[in-house]
Parts: sequence; C-alpha cells; structure tokens
Amino acid sequence: MPQIIDGKAISATIKDELKIKVEELSAKGIKVCLAVIQVGNDPASSVYVGNKKKACAYIGIDSLAYELPEETTQEELLKLIKELNDKEEVNGILVQLPLPKHIDEDEIIRAIDPKKDVDGFHPQSVGALCIGQPGFVSCTPAGIIQLLKRSDIEIAGKECVVIGRSNIVGKPMALLLLRENGTVTVAHSKTKNLKETAKRADILVVAVGKPKMITREYVKEGAVVIDVGIHRNESNKLCGDVDYDDVAPVCSAITPVPGGVGPMTIAMLMHNCVEAGDIR
Ligand code: NAD
Repeated sequence: MPQIIDGKAISATIKDELKIKVEELSAKGIKVCLAVIQVGNDPASSVYVGNKKKACAYIGIDSLAYELPEETTQEELLKLIKELNDKEEVNGILVQLPLPKHIDEDEIIRAIDPKKDVDGFHPQSVGALCIGQPGFVSCTPAGIIQLLKRSDIEIAGKECVVIGRSNIVGKPMALLLLRENGTVTVAHSKTKNLKETAKRADILVVAVGKPKMITREYVKEGAVVIDVGIHRNESNKLCGDVDYDDVAPVCSAITPVPGGVGPMTIAMLMHNCVEAGDIR
C-alpha cells in the first residue's frame, strides 16, 4: 500500500512550531497581527474566516475581524485596506474571496501592501516568486511543498506534472516545483493526450476541480499523487479530484481528501503571518 501523506499531522506540527516562534517574538516585544476582511455573509466564506481566526488564536496571533455588509462599495473597501496598510501593528491583511460581483477583486488585491500580502496574491508577490526573489507565496501550493519535504519526497530532478493552471494553485505550484529543481509540465483543459502527459509524472499534482477525474489510467506505477481538489459527493462525503480508491494501489504516496492538502492551506497562511511579523 502507498504512503498516506498525513496533512492533518504535518499541519499540526507546523502550527506548533509557529506557536513557539510567536512566543519567541513576543518575548522580544514583537506582536503578530492579522486583519481579516469579509464582505457579505457567504456561508462557506464564514466557515473559512472562522477557521483562520481559530488558527490565529491557537498560535498566539492577534486577529482583527472586519465583517462588512454585502453593499460595501469598492471605495469603502479600498479606504479600509489603505488604513490597514498604514497601521504599523497590522502585519498581514487578508481579504476573503470571492468578493461580491460589484467589487473588482484585482484592484482590491493590488491595493494591499505587498509586505502585508499574506495570501501571496499581489502581482508583486507572484512576480517575486517567478524570478526567485523573496515574497509571500500562495498558501495551498506552499503547503504542498511542505507536505513533500516533510514526507522525505525528493523533488529535484523529478518529472513533475501539474494538472490545472489557476492563479492560486496551478501556476504558483509549477513555479515552486521549478524552484525546487523539478522538471515541470503544466497540463490544463486544452492539453492533448492528458493521460500520456500525466503518466510521465514522478510527482503528479492534481488541481482540476473535477470530482474523482483522475483514475489509475493517468498515473505511472510508483508515482506520488497530490490531490488538491475538494468536493462533496452525492452522499455529502468529501472527495478530491483523484479517484483515491482506484489510484492508491498503484502509487507510492498519496494525499487523502479530507486530511491531505486541505489543512496545509491555513498552516501556511499562519506561517506567512509570522514571517510578516518577523521581518517588520
Ligand atoms: P480552477 O477552476 O480555477 O482551475 C482548474 C484548472 O483545471 C484550470 O486551469 C483548467 O484549465 C484545468 N482543467 C479543467 N478541466 C480540465 C480537464 N478536463 N483536463 C485538464 N485540465 C482541466 O480551480 P482551482 O482554484 O485551481 O482549484 C482546483 C481544485 O482545488 C478545486 O477542487 C478547488 O476546490 C480545490 N482547492 C483546494 C484548496 C485547498 O486548500 N485544499 C485550495 C484551492 C483550491
């Protein structure tokens, strides 16, 4: 049977490491503070925001919650971000996405000071990642690198195939694997011969957003399979983009859903906040 990559345990270890780091900073008189902005009351967003606040409380990071009404205007949101940019005690600013349709998300992301861009979505952060300079990295792909490293899975020299090219997962994932000296291929909805391409992978990262799409026909014997997808199936159970039961017997390591990539996203957000406090 394959190695099951335990994201729950690895994320718990990272949070405990961060808790110690926050205590050390606090002893030097440095406090870490994250401002979380939510516009409207989308139930899924409320759950994510609640989980982020809980993780902050566990690690010892102060969190400021801004729960704004659905009718908030672009100008009002920009004004709040400017205020938070200027507030010295705030290290990280997170705007929960998606925003209501009347708000231009790109302009909002661009308004966040890159030094406080703990989600790693600002064009300056993405550009820095692209040319190998310091900056915040998008949390889900950063978490996947941690999963691989902490499971002793070598990336350098490996054939890495990323399925999906979104700005928050696929593209930064490809750049991070390249930074780790993987040989990287990015596949997407227009890729011809997806099965053959995926089958080249020693490390296959799947972020297609299609429940159980990836079966063993896409997977080389002995590959490492990382499943980013999160869906609810017909019986309301969580599943990923990978057909776990079909793929697990042929791969050497695999992330389950739930309990694989999912818990790493918040752990890496917390990591970015602590870094933002430390470099202040
Ligand atoms: P997205 O919809 O923005 O992007 C999907 C990508 O898959 C696109 O680039 C598209 O080209 C590609 N694609 C779609 N159909 C394809 C096909 N048939 N063949 C090949 N490529 C195809 O999605 P996303 O935001 O990158 O998220 C992907 C999945 O990961 C979703 O299930 C999402 O819920 C999940 N997700 C999980 C976390 C987490 O914390 N675990 C974070 C972000 C996203």
